[in-house]
Amino acid sequence: MVERGCSHLDAIESIKQPHRRECEECVKIGSYWVHLRTCQTCGVTLCCDSSPNQHASKHARAGGHPVIASAQPGERWLYCYPDEAFSEY
Ligand SMILES: [Zn+2]
Ligand SMILES: [Zn+2]
Ligand SMILES: [Zn+2]
Repeated sequence: MVERGCSHLDAIESIKQPHRRECEECVKIGSYWVHLRTCQTCGVTLCCDSSPNQHASKHARAGGHPVIASAQPGERWLYCYPDEAFSEY
């Protein structure tokens, strides 16, 4: 685990877990996803950068919501897009 200075990760006190294991935006457009990420600002679950639509990173840029958590079962990590900071929990 590489720790880089990131005030966003430092500010996370409890991890938001996915309500449903699906990308809300892909469901709307009938697309598919590879992995899921949950926004730690608003709790929406969206698809990862390996997915064709990359909804989680688009959401982070458009909404200014920097931190996502993996929504994959068994994965326990956070990532901050603007700081490219990664943290396991
Ligand atoms: Zn950050
Ligand atoms: Zn998606
Ligand atoms: Zn969000």
